[in-house]
Amino acid sequence: MINIAIDGPAGAGKSTIAKMVSAKLGYIYVDTGALYRAIALYIKENAIADEDIEKSLADADVSLRFVDGAQRVYLGDRDVSGLIRTNEISMEASRTSSIPAVRAYLFETQQKIARENNIIMDGRDIGTVILPNADVKIFLTASAEERANRRFRELSEKPDCPPYEVILKDIIQRDYQDMNRETSPLRQAEDAILVDTTSLNLEESAEEILRIIREKTGRE
Ligand code: C5P
Repeated sequence: MINIAIDGPAGAGKSTIAKMVSAKLGYIYVDTGALYRAIALYIKENAIADEDIEKSLADADVSLRFVDGAQRVYLGDRDVSGLIRTNEISMEASRTSSIPAVRAYLFETQQKIARENNIIMDGRDIGTVILPNADVKIFLTASAEERANRRFRELSEKPDCPPYEVILKDIIQRDYQDMNRETSPLRQAEDAILVDTTSLNLEESAEEILRIIREKTGRE
């Protein structure tokens, strides 16, 4: 199986670009952030106190399903893929993903998909912790201002779009939390290739990643 790891901070374009690249290669795209978001939603909906999170995980029943190649995330039999896409859940996922028991709970789910499929998996610790032997590792980033700009443009059609300054502040806070947690902090793996998309559009970013994958795997 071919495993491609893409890590990087929030808003670098990982999911959009990874989707484009996996469609080209015919690989499954796995968005691991959705797993942490689903746990955050579970904790919020059930008002679970921090000290009770570890023992409650056994009942969370988080799973991924793939419908026509598109990932859906489930809590039990409930598809929560839409519910997890709020700013509140982003911040809660960033907070609760620092709990070692949460990371341990999701570890095998991620490794199993990678063992059984050709995948592009995006996250924060894929190249460093989940798939240390991935065939290709990319660290995708962009300046915080550019990432906030992109998020603002994306949200600007929605009625409850937060001001740019709030989006930028949240991005900087999430970067800080993700990079400074003790368990599996966000960092570039030693053998990962850095791709900075600050001045690249989506097509250019996808092209650059495809070029790196071709070079590393020898596959077209
Ligand atoms: O990628 P996304 O923004 O959906 O991730 C939400 C949060 O989940 C991140 O801020 C990060 O704290 C956490 N996460 C993680 N490890 C991953 C993927 C996401 O800690 N592999």
